[in-house]
Amino acid sequence: MSASDLALIRGDLEAAARRGVELLEGHGDSAALPLRLPKGRVVALGACERHAVAVARESARVDTGGDELSLRMLAGRALDVFVELEVSEGPVADPLEDLLSWLDAGGEFAVRDQVIAAEHDLHLGPLASAARAWSGLDPLWWPRTQASAAVHLAGGAVRCDGRTDVELGGRCSARPSVVVEVKLGRPHQVHLDEVTHYALLVALRDGFAPAAVARWYPGGALADMAVTVDVLHSAALRLADAIGAWAELHAGRPPIERPGAPCSWCPDAGECPSFEPARDPFDPFGDGDPR
Ligand code: SF4
Repeated sequence: MSASDLALIRGDLEAAARRGVELLEGHGDSAALPLRLPKGRVVALGACERHAVAVARESARVDTGGDELSLRMLAGRALDVFVELEVSEGPVADPLEDLLSWLDAGGEFAVRDQVIAAEHDLHLGPLASAARAWSGLDPLWWPRTQASAAVHLAGGAVRCDGRTDVELGGRCSARPSVVVEVKLGRPHQVHLDEVTHYALLVALRDGFAPAAVARWYPGGALADMAVTVDVLHSAALRLADAIGAWAELHAGRPPIERPGAPCSWCPDAGECPSFEPARDPFDPFGDGDPR
């Protein structure tokens, strides 16, 4: 991938961001700026717009318990922390105590309280054991965890934020740059969308594309994928569509309902006429509670 390929991709995204900003300003809705497109929202908008709107609405209701995570999401957060611990500090000694201490240190007090309440259903031991696969990583790979991969467009009026689970290699290491997402559950198209989105953000952040992105599933092999210009074009199209859709939704367009996997954990599932139970509930441990 050349620098000019990346410049073209950035130019297309800047154009999409400016169109979104102009739409909102034209509707006198500048209060919606900056438009925020975290990774989860970009992927959610591609799956079901109404779901993305519902999640954003519930997340804003901090006083109603709307931030409560499902059991699978709590388990996913625990797995992320165990991998971080293995990569950055060494072996997990006591899964519960180490997890609570990490969440405390990061100011994630609400998540810590939910972990305490759900301790007996979370099965932290197997998650911590699976994360041990990350121990002993060669420091020459220069491993980093939870690195920011934010891209701001239209002078900061559109903000596409993300944090990669693990980054390896890159310029300072003289090894290929690889982005790894830690995933809980069976391989799913949504996971592919997430890693290719990160490939785009990291490419725009660093000025060059990572050599590969990969998904790591507990107990499974690393599923890697080369980052080609087509991969980045596809991710950029998805992001441009998400920017446009989020601006239109803020301007008053009704959200489109697309039933699928997110129906299983959708805040609007009880009232949405398009609700359908997901065929793939991402159920690796047999608990039926999708991440
Ligand atoms: S229930 Fe399904 S179709 Fe309806 S908003 Fe939620 S995810 Fe979309």
